[in-house]
Amino acid sequence: MRLDVVSIFPDYLAPLRLSLVGKAVDSGILDLRVHDLRDWTHDRHRTVDDTPYGGGAGMVMRPEPWGEALDTLAPPGGAQPRFVVPTPAGRPFTQDLAAELAAEPWLVFGCGRYEGIDQRVVEYAGSRMRVDEVSLGDYVLAGGEVAVLVIVEAVARLLPGVLGNPESLTEESHSAGLLEYPVYTKPATWREREVPPVLLSGHHGQIARWRRDEALRRTARRRPDLLSRLPADELDARDRRV
Ligand code: SAM
Repeated sequence: MRLDVVSIFPDYLAPLRLSLVGKAVDSGILDLRVHDLRDWTHDRHRTVDDTPYGGGAGMVMRPEPWGEALDTLAPPGGAQPRFVVPTPAGRPFTQDLAAELAAEPWLVFGCGRYEGIDQRVVEYAGSRMRVDEVSLGDYVLAGGEVAVLVIVEAVARLLPGVLGNPESLTEESHSAGLLEYPVYTKPATWREREVPPVLLSGHHGQIARWRRDEALRRTARRRPDLLSRLPADELDARDRRV
């Protein structure tokens, strides 16, 4: 998968060279290219922002450098990427959207700063490529870079070959509409707290049932909204008793 990230703070994206995502880059699963938006400016001060039309506080990112960035990375008439623009005014980022993005061959991310990017950039991009304005949550960050770190990490771990054991993906939170059950490791007793005995029983059927029950309880307690969205036929008779 090819990933282009455009930002006025390219160094902010340095963590993409570390850990799981970094290994995916090193192994060639991810072709990561980070760009400085200011490379597409032409004045002495490399200006990327200006005052908002209509007045008001703050500055807005000018459209010209963004237009040139898009035209350089994805010339009109050629193959087109999916353009992901983080914004608190976007649709919420979810595991489903991560899976959708993981199926794309090429993503371009546009990191906003200040009061955001002139809206005509999204309109222009939308005339020739798929555009997603995506929000990490109902709060306001200072820039899109942190959002890109989050989105890329969530997408990268879904790519074949990135996780050592792809089975990790099947039972985890948000993969089947439930939060994951609690997990434990050695020692079996720690500070007078015991690991639930069923997990030491070696009985795979009982362990699977316990994990399902705990996932249901935890989801009902912490995220009842998720439980209410679960299709009725995904709950068996025992589930309903939990
Ligand atoms: N004026 C904008 C608004 O009220 O919608 C907020 C701009 S914010 C200070 C600057 C940049 O941070 C945004 O353009 C976006 O790239 C990023 N950002 C802030 N909050 C975000 C969120 N919740 N999700 C995704 N990106 C966010």
